[in-house]
Amino acid sequence: MKIEYAFDVEDRIFQPKDYIYINYRKINNQDVLPYFIFLNTAVGVKVRKITTRRLWLLEDKFKRRLHDLIHSQLIGTNGTNIQTVIGLEEACDGCVKCSNIAKKCLEYGPLRISTLQTMTYSKNYKKLHVTDKLFEDIAEYCISKSKNKEECFKELDKTILSTISCDKLALWINENRVIPNEGTDLKFDHRHMPREVIDIILRKWNVKSLKLCMLHMTKEHMCNVKWMQYDYFTRVRLNDPYLKTKQSDLKFSHVEVSLSYSSNCVRDLGNRQLIVNQPKGYDNFIPNIRRMFPTDKITMDLSHWYDIARTDIEKKMSTILQVVTMEQHQNLSLDIKFFVESGIVKKLNEETNKEDLLGIAPGYVLQENRLHCFKKSSPFNGNNGPEVFLDNKWIGRRFQVDHAENRFHFKLDVYIKEKELEERLDKKLLQEYPDSFVGHFYA
Ligand SMILES: [Zn+2]
Ligand SMILES: [Zn+2]
Ligand SMILES: [Zn+2]
Repeated sequence: MKIEYAFDVEDRIFQPKDYIYINYRKINNQDVLPYFIFLNTAVGVKVRKITTRRLWLLEDKFKRRLHDLIHSQLIGTNGTNIQTVIGLEEACDGCVKCSNIAKKCLEYGPLRISTLQTMTYSKNYKKLHVTDKLFEDIAEYCISKSKNKEECFKELDKTILSTISCDKLALWINENRVIPNEGTDLKFDHRHMPREVIDIILRKWNVKSLKLCMLHMTKEHMCNVKWMQYDYFTRVRLNDPYLKTKQSDLKFSHVEVSLSYSSNCVRDLGNRQLIVNQPKGYDNFIPNIRRMFPTDKITMDLSHWYDIARTDIEKKMSTILQVVTMEQHQNLSLDIKFFVESGIVKKLNEETNKEDLLGIAPGYVLQENRLHCFKKSSPFNGNNGPEVFLDNKWIGRRFQVDHAENRFHFKLDVYIKEKELEERLDKKLLQEYPDSFVGHFYA
């Protein structure tokens, strides 16, 4: 079951609203309890999985009530049927009810430090979620319990227990964090993380694969800075120059990167020169992943919300290729799903004042594959969310780059909404440009 607060990503002013989406359907505050009771009694559902998103953006009273209703109505005190709970601690910052449920789940998180400290039992999780803020909290907790570096790392060793293991670790990383007391000149950026905290978690929990979720907004946007006053921990950022990043000796089967809710990282992967904003160094992203989380397989999805999915497909494909091959990768299979707006396939020719259809960027080879997928979305009408989020079909084509000598294989799957393809078909233009990029979507 999915319970989320949704807003129009285009609109940057957030007003707490009095409704929430439950399984993509709008439910008003006062209807939540009757709806949960209905599910329990009339339908008799046994909720196994609860994913909540952005509940922290709700008005305080509604948020607390919803947190408590989820526990009392959907999970139950014994949590007999529950297997997955994601995001609920965003509403309470960690509480006893939540940490009790963490113990019952196969997938849980993101953990607040108070929940982590209750995990003294022995358990194999399928998946645990942690945030960049948790790493800072752990570092500062260990510093507070010790007098020198040696004691600090002993404390770290006692805090992360190897009785816990998890097959997959999801890291939630906020791209827009600020340092407190910086005055009015706030710089929104991805911030340093204590490397040794990350490494000990990966090691002691015996993590086999990772998911990195880059988020342009989370509840925890304020950094802890105290740990940086001590010289105990190595500082890492995924957007720092990669040559400075120490190579880890761990190995992971797969690193999955979700950029569906990213803004900076997505932007920097598709733009080399930015006119308005400074690039934030995310062209170092893949080389840094391979140093911190060594793997031969990276998959990524680039969303259609932000800057890169709108103009000039040819240029974007070229830039993406340039960025992903910035370092010559050995033994890497990289799959990127790129969701674009249909306007990206053409460009206004200023001389003729006509629209030209763009081609496929050099270096890529079109593959035979016919791809499709579904994503939920519906338009917002001003301040009013849609009654229901509907499935939209996306059509995809695969473009591939192989450097056999390095065993580097890069697949770029570009997706366009089926509806946009149908509505904006210009047969004359397509005939005029028989080798256009978009032409392959109709073939
Ligand atoms: Zn809680
Ligand atoms: Zn740095
Ligand atoms: Zn080559």
